[in-house]
Amino acid sequence: MVSKRIQKALLGNSAIRAMFVEGKAMAEKYGAENVYDFSLGNPATPAPAALNDSIRDLLDEADKKGAAGSLELHGYMENAGYKDVRETIAANLNKRFGTAFDDHNIVMTVGAAGGLNIIFKTVLDPGDEVIVFAPFFGEYRQYAANFDSEIVTVNPDLKTFLPDLNDFEAKITEKTKALIVNTPNNPTGVIYKPETMEAIASILEKKQKEFGHDIYLVSDEPYRELVYDGNKEDFLTKYYKNTIVGYSFSKSLSLPGERIGYVVVPNEASDAEELIRGIEISNRTLGFVNAPSLIQKAVARCLDEKTDVSFYDENRTMLYDGLTELGFTCIKPEGAFYLWVKSPVDNEEEFVEEGKKLHLLMVKGSAFGCGGFVRLAYCVSHETVKNSLPAFEKLAQVYGL
Ligand code: PLP
Repeated sequence: MVSKRIQKALLGNSAIRAMFVEGKAMAEKYGAENVYDFSLGNPATPAPAALNDSIRDLLDEADKKGAAGSLELHGYMENAGYKDVRETIAANLNKRFGTAFDDHNIVMTVGAAGGLNIIFKTVLDPGDEVIVFAPFFGEYRQYAANFDSEIVTVNPDLKTFLPDLNDFEAKITEKTKALIVNTPNNPTGVIYKPETMEAIASILEKKQKEFGHDIYLVSDEPYRELVYDGNKEDFLTKYYKNTIVGYSFSKSLSLPGERIGYVVVPNEASDAEELIRGIEISNRTLGFVNAPSLIQKAVARCLDEKTDVSFYDENRTMLYDGLTELGFTCIKPEGAFYLWVKSPVDNEEEFVEEGKKLHLLMVKGSAFGCGGFVRLAYCVSHETVKNSLPAFEKLAQVYGL
């Protein structure tokens, strides 16, 4: 019999994954071109050519060195990852964001998911609370539960989908150990501008003083580089000193299957050295041991590479304009590759089911802790977006829009 913890997890199994499986079944039945699957955040742009070139070069270079090359490329390493990779990442961040990191501030991770889990294992005690801003990436709930902690949800401002800061302040308690910030945001595409980050930071400072313990801001930033309309890439450690960054190459270089990212712990964070050692140990003891070796070396050679953001921008415009013209209410995404749409009926599950009849796959907002809305992942082909619009038109007619 499976554990009680897993029984609970199975009950809340990811709605997004379930929809992904359903989408595949529908594609087999009706033909992929007749199914408009906006369910999963799987990148639609290829990894940069330089990434595959780097992998080939790394293998050739290792072969040339013989046994030593193979052992270095495929062997165990420090739990934090290759030192040269971490040095290169630190230097790249310093160049882009004016920070002052060195290799010891960086721990290579198994994607953002691996990074968040090792951060949580390091900072959370059973019963601690992690604050999240709704709507949020649903798996945060499971990541906190892995360490016998719970998430506490802060309401959004329903116009801007920025956090309601009064609610945030009210929800911080003696038990609050961390806050997760995810900008650009999944599922809304909203970017937190400096004024929002400054306001969040000042509330955290105040509450740290009030409760007399550290509250960590965990910045989950897999979409850092996916920004539109001239928005700037931001790096959050400058707003609040107890910030820990979890980054992933899954979306920025279209590598989600490779499982590669990193955590940054700045020297200014309280107990920084202990935090870093804790995060390194957690990488090992949670069973990751270290991030995969070949892809660590490959991404380090591609830090200035960019995915084709203009590809997503075209989909964003087509979908946002198309749905808005049809009478749907949408939040205009500023980053990431998701569109957040108001359900024309309170119960968005009914709306999702109605969409399925027209082969439109959308994810219910309650999967992100915010009912009454749905998420469309527009990391799909231009044809899928274009061909989906007549189906959305029929859907709009169902609701008299
Ligand atoms: N955090 C957010 C907000 C995400 O959207 C995702 C994946 O979609 C993750 C974390 C997990 O990313 P990774 O594939 O790097 O583990």
